[in-house]
Amino acid sequence: MLSKVCSKSSVTMAPQPLALGPDPAPFTCPHCDAKVTTTVKAAANTKTHILALILCKCLCIPCLCIPYCCHSCQTLQHYCPNCKAYLGAYVN
Ligand SMILES: [Zn+2]
Repeated sequence: MLSKVCSKSSVTMAPQPLALGPDPAPFTCPHCDAKVTTTVKAAANTKTHILALILCKCLCIPCLCIPYCCHSCQTLQHYCPNCKAYLGAYVN
């Protein structure tokens, strides 16, 4: 008899997306268990490349670097300053 299937109590806890903003935030690192303030690093994402392409085509080639310098056009990745673990990202 394998018909004893739970209908609603088997909601598994998915890894919660971290509610991180664009700025370094106080956070308890799940890797080293330390209370830290996250280190934010900007990384180019697809949007950055598309924006760069658009700017390059519409304006001029030097504009191509704007999205790469502008943090609001990039994914901001939070890292633990203690163990350097990746904690989450903030996408604008
Ligand atoms: Zn850590």
